[in-house]
Amino acid sequence: MAYAPFHEEFPDIAEKETRMLTVFDLPGLPAGQYLFVEAYCNEPGCDCRRVFFNVFDAHTHQLEAVIAYGWESRDFYATWLGEDNPAIIRELQGPVLNVGSPQSPLAPALLNQMAIILKDKNYVERLKRHYDMYKAVIDKKGRRRTAKPKQTFSKKRSRRHRNRGM
Ligand SMILES: [Zn+2]
Repeated sequence: MAYAPFHEEFPDIAEKETRMLTVFDLPGLPAGQYLFVEAYCNEPGCDCRRVFFNVFDAHTHQLEAVIAYGWESRDFYATWLGEDNPAIIRELQGPVLNVGSPQSPLAPALLNQMAIILKDKNYVERLKRHYDMYKAVIDKKGRRRTAKPKQTFSKKRSRRHRNRGM
């Protein structure tokens, strides 16, 4: 599965509803603003219920951390995974620095801040809402891709080919 930015499908909502952290004085984090850009799984039919945060410095646009988070219960991910593997389930739930993603020296401090932000129930509800919106678009696209091409379309195309040949 791949994760794609929420703003690719919903640029206006993303602009209004992307979390930004303003830092004045925090351990391990230079003063500045950090954007938590959401990315969701773009595999049609997959219901993994997780978000990836690509954390950018709002001024330099540098990617500082990639944080993974799943809001569902332990049982949900055990069922989704098909096995009760505590280590993997912990990774799925997070929040964790995603293994295999680039992480800057600021990443651990950003993860700490993310863990605090995720205590905000309204924010987590917003993430779920974004996930549902995003998944609805992806699943619709998936259905269109797997649908049979319409007969009229191929007829029209073959007629055009014939015309070009004359
Ligand atoms: Zn997925």
